Amino acid sequence: MKINEQVALVTGGGSGLGAATARRLAAKGAKVAILDFNIDAANEVAAELGGVALQADVADQEAVGGAFDQAIADLGGAPRIAISCAGIGMAARIVGREGKMSFDVFERTLKVNLFGTYNVMSHAAQRMMELEPTETGERGVVINTASVAWEDGQLGQAAYAASKGAIASMCLPAAREFARSGVRVMAIAPGLFHTPMMEGLPEEVAAQITANIPFPDRLGAPEEYALLAEQIVSNPYLNGTTIRLDGAVRLPPR
Ligand code: NAD
Repeated sequence: MKINEQVALVTGGGSGLGAATARRLAAKGAKVAILDFNIDAANEVAAELGGVALQADVADQEAVGGAFDQAIADLGGAPRIAISCAGIGMAARIVGREGKMSFDVFERTLKVNLFGTYNVMSHAAQRMMELEPTETGERGVVINTASVAWEDGQLGQAAYAASKGAIASMCLPAAREFARSGVRVMAIAPGLFHTPMMEGLPEEVAAQITANIPFPDRLGAPEEYALLAEQIVSNPYLNGTTIRLDGAVRLPPR
């Protein structure tokens, strides 16, 4: 699908991978809505791109529905491009020295990463189905963000890996379900990227992580994620699968 003039909604667009993707789509001529819990960050990116900022928790059904309606009102149509980058990563052992992982950590991680992604995808697809198809027969493209932890989750990543594994797993059934409407669903599983999420790590942990990346032997740049998102939107034959974007990294057990 061509990007120019399309309406796009990017969750987590106030930071990291989402912000880079919003910038790339806007540079290609899309009208972009930035949905983020952090409205200050969303406002900043939206102002830079001439887009709109929307505040919502991706896990909140009503708030996300309202944000889509707002995007439609502000940008003149339903998004044909919906990209979920909002996510959280909390590390905790299932049973650690201090006892069992708090159920809250597991629940919150699944709620934001999985339920949030499902919620945004369902709101997006419903509205895409009401649109006329483009000249390629497409009504829209959904891109969800998994993680390489989907396949090689490390010690302490049970909740995170479970949430990302489910995002990868639902890609094919969602693509199959939406096929008759011309809506594609893809997922990107990033390796280790240079974003605020990673900047929070202690230096020695970051160095250890980088040492495991074969080539290029550095963290991924958010712009490289955005480049793949652009390709997925542009290439109509990409559908129903999860692409690892990781410099050949395979995460070690710890
Ligand atoms: P980030 O922390 O830089 O940005 C995440 C954004 O999501 C923030 O702006 C935050 O405010 C927003 N957000 C968080 N919870 C939200 C909620 N409930 N509702 C709405 N917005 C919310 O993170 P990032 O590194 O850009 O990561 C983006 C996605 O990529 C995440 O899903 C993450 O799990 C995934 N990922 C990142 C890496 C990496 O190395 N950075 C690797 C693999 C996967």
